[in-house]
Amino acid sequence: MESGRRITEAPGIGAVAAREMQALGITTLADMIRFSPRAYDDRREERTVRMATMDDPSIACRITVLRHSDFPTRSGRTLKVTAEDDDGTHLEILCFNRYFLKQQLSLGSEWYIHGKIQRVRGIYQISAFELKRTREEIGLGRILPVYPLSGKLTEKMMRTAAAYALRELSPIEDELPERMYGELGLMRHRDAYRAIHFPSTMDEAGRALRTLSFTELFMMELSVLREKGTPPAKTRSVPSSRERQLLSSLPFRLTDDQLRAAEEIREDLDSSVPMNRLLQGDVGSGKTLVAWLSALHEIDKGGQVAFMAPTELLARQHADGAAELLGKTGIRIAFITGSVKGESRRLLLESLRNGTTDLVIGTHALFSEDVSFRNLRYAIIDEQHRFGVQQREALMRKGPGCGILSMSATPIPRSLALTLYAGYSVSTLRTMPQGRIPVKTYLVRDDNRENMYRSVGVEFSRGHQAYFVYPRIDDEGESDLRDVTGMFSFLQKEYPGIPSALIHSKLADEEKMKILRDFRDKKLSYLVATSVVEVGIDIPDATCMVIEHAERFGLAALHQLRGRVGRSTLPSYCFLVYGKNLTEEAKARLSVMKETTDGFLIAEKDLEIRGPGDIAGDRQSGFLHLKFASLTGDLDLIELARGEAERVIKEDIGLLKAENAVLRRALAEGGRTTAKAERRI
Ligand code: ADP
Ligand code: MG
Repeated sequence: MESGRRITEAPGIGAVAAREMQALGITTLADMIRFSPRAYDDRREERTVRMATMDDPSIACRITVLRHSDFPTRSGRTLKVTAEDDDGTHLEILCFNRYFLKQQLSLGSEWYIHGKIQRVRGIYQISAFELKRTREEIGLGRILPVYPLSGKLTEKMMRTAAAYALRELSPIEDELPERMYGELGLMRHRDAYRAIHFPSTMDEAGRALRTLSFTELFMMELSVLREKGTPPAKTRSVPSSRERQLLSSLPFRLTDDQLRAAEEIREDLDSSVPMNRLLQGDVGSGKTLVAWLSALHEIDKGGQVAFMAPTELLARQHADGAAELLGKTGIRIAFITGSVKGESRRLLLESLRNGTTDLVIGTHALFSEDVSFRNLRYAIIDEQHRFGVQQREALMRKGPGCGILSMSATPIPRSLALTLYAGYSVSTLRTMPQGRIPVKTYLVRDDNRENMYRSVGVEFSRGHQAYFVYPRIDDEGESDLRDVTGMFSFLQKEYPGIPSALIHSKLADEEKMKILRDFRDKKLSYLVATSVVEVGIDIPDATCMVIEHAERFGLAALHQLRGRVGRSTLPSYCFLVYGKNLTEEAKARLSVMKETTDGFLIAEKDLEIRGPGDIAGDRQSGFLHLKFASLTGDLDLIELARGEAERVIKEDIGLLKAENAVLRRALAEGGRTTAKAERRI
């Protein structure tokens, strides 16, 4: 599609309107063509006043003016025009601030009207309406697009601009290889773009949307796959001897999801194409164990493995876990963070360089210039969202062609995973290991907290621990601190003699670490924390999570926080304390939390409640501004697009075949899309 011609060419679009359109992302005629209506106004059939219902109070019909009258309003007189439609039903047209209509709407004149009516004391009235002289002008017999608007833009301006752009840029060329139209039952793009704006039936609008959504998803997958290559072909692999040794030493069986994920990863590691896989599963779903198994697999083949965690504390925890679980397999494990210095650092670096260390666990210190490996084959990245692209690339440079496993404890719906992680394969641990007791969740009204304090007190008397979490309110943290400090002294009075600590973003790292250590060692019974402080450690005896102002947290955050308890076989509790005047959305969120502990279900609800942009967070939301496709409803299209993109890339990664020329051109033009796709990973 010609892309240079400005939207200001269109009739009725001056500088002011153009600025408003820019806010909607439209600067050219081509942008206008790719701007999707948010709904349609079906005016194919005349709807007289009598046909309006509660569900659909709209009318579109001819009327004849019967009489004029005034009725007093606060701002002065208002014109009231009484008219009748062709059925003879009377309608009062209230012309607020439009007294001038009296001239035009002369007695006996005929008009076409469109709008929504209401019935007040048996009388039909309308106050927001369109009046036109002819059927055509009012759109009768047609389906009209309804666009999102901004500022002073009107639907009419948008419709005119869309019609103009479609006319001027015709004929619109195909955007996909010839064969795909037939094979996938897609509309030609010239028809699809016309039909998305001016469909002749609702079914046609639906087919146009499917075509354009597919194209958008397909091009996105294609641009990523072209950079990253397709996922490895399946290979048959068997567990290595150390893997089997670890498996037989475990006091439990792996869940089916763990077994499947372990196999998927093993197959990737044994393939000739470097792995790029996401392993997602809730906290406690057993990701780390799967990661260790795969690490052993690679080590048995003679490679080195790096395991990276976002904080020193987490890295330490993983190192301890690895030493315990993997020590007996005889592999050599090392631990590196920024605070490993001097002679011990020198020795450590030496062992990585000469290959005497098989598995290194650490923080971003692993990226440091001075770290190099003899044969880094595999990198495991825990909580992958906490690392940036550069960091990951730095690590990959240390092991060219090394496979990557990104782990995420933020479950996201499959549609979102496939889109956000185009170019990744995805493994999911959905079921939790047996024996976990789901956390019991209570909604507690702000002014009704006595029972809650009592229950938490009972837990203290059993030697259990608790978290009290406050939301972060402003970036400066001043008022957060005041709130959380106030709560802290309140709780000290509520629980006299029970040891506790306040932990917040203003504390030095050293101090935070000490508090968390003391909590782990049970020198403290509860922590009062701002949400900034991610209590990312595993405390088996912590059985209570109290979240204040729970209505201010998103579902993902609530779920993560709740995941901090219920880490053992002890029954545990989550109290969501909420204030008055809950919004509908907040109510919906809290009731989801009460109903389920399944992180994937929660994520799906979250997607429904908030939409994809918010879910993915700022970092990724730009990428998710899909024009046509929907991440809530188009899972089948997403899978189809991904499959087709993989097929094309597998057969013709350079897009050199004649039939793929159209794709090569589109990707070259849409460099923007590619750049965006790159940024998010
Ligand atoms: P994640 O990394 O997903 O948060 P972990 O791998 O740390 O989860 O597992 C949490 C705990 O559950 C660990 O103590 C681990 O040993 C244990 N675990 C892992 N898999 C199983 C299983 N299949 N059955 C029982 N316990 C398991
Ligand atoms: Mg973990």
